[in-house]
Amino acid sequence: MKYNRTYNFSAGPAMMPEPVLEEIAAEMLNYRGSGMCVMEMSHRSKVFQQIRDEAEADLRRLMSIPDNYKVLFVQGGGTVQFAMVPMNLMKNGVGCYVETGAWSKKAIAEAKKYGEVKIAASSADKNFSYIPDCSDLDIPGNADYVYICENETINGTTYFKLPDTKGKILVSDQSSMFLSRPCDVSKYGLIWAGVQKNVGPAGMAVVIIREDLLRDDLPKFVPTYMSYKTHADNDSLYNTPNCWAIYCCGKVFKYLLDNGGLEAMNRRNQEKAAILYDFLDRSRLFTGAVAKEDRSLMNVPFVTPSKEQDAEVVAASKAAGFDNLKGHKSVGGLRASIYNAMPKEGVEALVEFLKKYEAEHA
Ligand SMILES: *Cc1c(COP(=O)(O)O)cnc(C)c1O
Repeated sequence: MKYNRTYNFSAGPAMMPEPVLEEIAAEMLNYRGSGMCVMEMSHRSKVFQQIRDEAEADLRRLMSIPDNYKVLFVQGGGTVQFAMVPMNLMKNGVGCYVETGAWSKKAIAEAKKYGEVKIAASSADKNFSYIPDCSDLDIPGNADYVYICENETINGTTYFKLPDTKGKILVSDQSSMFLSRPCDVSKYGLIWAGVQKNVGPAGMAVVIIREDLLRDDLPKFVPTYMSYKTHADNDSLYNTPNCWAIYCCGKVFKYLLDNGGLEAMNRRNQEKAAILYDFLDRSRLFTGAVAKEDRSLMNVPFVTPSKEQDAEVVAASKAAGFDNLKGHKSVGGLRASIYNAMPKEGVEALVEFLKKYEAEHA
């Protein structure tokens, strides 16, 4: 390992592809003859405009985003989207939410400030360890949208089949699975993703929104910045955007295109997740926390028989050179986040470590 980098299993901010970091390092002091770092550049300059335009074009290519969708780069990370979605999409004041864990709960709590929230389905009964059946949801006729968190980062579940929204628009928080597998954008009204999980640095969300959902008639209380139309009308340059995040994400988009696109990512991610899940399924000490058919390929929560042993494994893993394997404070246990940039070797090394620990402690 050239840079002595650790296998970082953080849920986010998380690992980025090493070749991307190398390129960024090489361009740090003087971006392609501009005489400055991207951090020092005017967001109105030609050189930055090209960085922004290429990032959008590459993302469009990567996801085959149809022409009637806008791509927006919005500051405030994921949490701001919890508010922007109801502010912009609640015309009748009714949002349908599928409650699958920590991040959909946050979205629900925020939406309640702006209108009526209907919980269309929930997996709260089993501690959010599965994705509820969404084939026949009870969706009121006046619902403005159906909202899902497509990959619950903390609980470790993912949708392999999208809900039947009965004609209502589907809104998806893809933060912790964005670009991990192919995605048919035309099935959604709006997709958003905080980029620090599977793409780049923190502090920005990518929003993909169908054009007909952009509105001029938002309630007066909606801040200018919180209107999707503000960003759409100004190519995400209404104010100073997160230039650095746009630049880094753009590099990751190019990297993914150069490495087989989302089909290839999906194959790699399936392979990586299988290594870890196969081990957990056979282990006598460690248990996966999620129903098999709904297991995330990105975030893998697991437990030992006791909290004390969980903590012991986390400490031992750290000493062995792995980082950020502690489960989220709300659920405990352990969690390995294995996003696009986590190499297969990292997952193999982790499994070797866990096997050895088990042999010594079971
Ligand atoms: C991390 C995360 C968020 C919140 O993102 P912030 O940028 O920290 O606000 C929202 N949804 C999901 C699924 C996440 O994983």
